[in-house]
Amino acid sequence: MREGAKALFPNYGSRYNLAFVKGEGSRLWDENGKQYLDLMSGIAVTNLGHVPKQVADRLKEQIDQIWHTSNLFHIPNQEKLAQLLTDNSCGDAVFFGNSGAEANEAAIKLARRYFNKVLGKPEQYEIISFQQSFHGRTLATLTATGQDKVKEGFAPLPIGFAYAPYNDAEALEQAITPQTCAIMLEMVQGEGGVNRANPEFIKQVVALCEQHGLLLIVDEIQTGVGRTGKLFAYEHYGIEPDIFTLAKGLGSGMPIGAMVGKEKLREAFSAGSHGSTFGGNYLSTAAGVATLETILEGKLSERAAEMGDYIVSELSKQLADNPLVSEVRGLGLLIGIECTQPVADLITTLQEHAVLVISAGPNVIRLAPSLLITKEEVDEGLAVICSVLGKHAQQAQAATAVQ
Ligand SMILES: *Cc1c(COP(=O)(O)O)cnc(C)c1O
Repeated sequence: MREGAKALFPNYGSRYNLAFVKGEGSRLWDENGKQYLDLMSGIAVTNLGHVPKQVADRLKEQIDQIWHTSNLFHIPNQEKLAQLLTDNSCGDAVFFGNSGAEANEAAIKLARRYFNKVLGKPEQYEIISFQQSFHGRTLATLTATGQDKVKEGFAPLPIGFAYAPYNDAEALEQAITPQTCAIMLEMVQGEGGVNRANPEFIKQVVALCEQHGLLLIVDEIQTGVGRTGKLFAYEHYGIEPDIFTLAKGLGSGMPIGAMVGKEKLREAFSAGSHGSTFGGNYLSTAAGVATLETILEGKLSERAAEMGDYIVSELSKQLADNPLVSEVRGLGLLIGIECTQPVADLITTLQEHAVLVISAGPNVIRLAPSLLITKEEVDEGLAVICSVLGKHAQQAQAATAVQ
């Protein structure tokens, strides 16, 4: 084990035996100078590639001016980013934290407080989320997460959460009780396996929210900021959530989270009800402004849609006869290759071939490349993926033939 790694909690397990020292666009270099093609962007974070010039320049400028005052004062960059977000979405007011979990935590608190303080219905506090969802690692957000593995050993968990199967409107309707205040979901379940919400389901979710007077919370932490081919994934469905949350792609790698809500929710967060020392600080919001401006000006969401379609169609074609692959699916540049077996070994083999991808659940290889990846880089990456998957399929067949 590396000496310094012993000084860390082992919550990330034994990490890949790689450390990168330089990044540029879709390329990374490790400590030995070996070059890699990055098709994961951290975990869907570096949407403009590594060290994008527009963001780097803005950060350098900011670092010589001022870093921190406090949310007791106006923070011009924070106001600018809030305005950019509200001008380009269905939301009207923004709260900034430092991570995705904090953005969702704020969303959960806002929903409860709106029912309690604004509507005067404190008995309506329960939030329904979905199986296979992922919403974060704080106590409330891991409770909202529809996967048992993130909850193990953390009991007692907060009350006020219920679960329904994804893409099943009937089951959702049955889960609604007089205590329900909100429904929370991802438009594409990222960690859960790159599972897309089907449009008919979303239509019914919105109808159920209207019928029962519930808030709709969309977790766009992974899908937001251009990744899926629209600025926000909810736009694909022609809906307007009451609250949506952002983090991963918003700061190009600087820590930032945002919770965006509709006008009617504004007063639910009155003075003193919520806050964060670092939330919306000069540096992370400088990165956020530069990132969002670059995506908007470059129409990079549209680019993500086109490149994503190309990747899915190429992979579908090239992997059509591969018995290891059961489905290729995605939305924009959030793409899953579902396999008939666990993919952990495939991912390390791909790393040995200098291509970086991640899993989404045990059996899905997830691709989340930069929105600026070139067609040449895509073709290079797909060739390696298809060849590695082809070899693994041959080996699997040879092994069963021997038996
Ligand atoms: C990553 C992620 C989170 C948690 O974000 P953190 O910044 O790790 O707290 C929440 N929801 C979704 C959909 C995510 O992909």
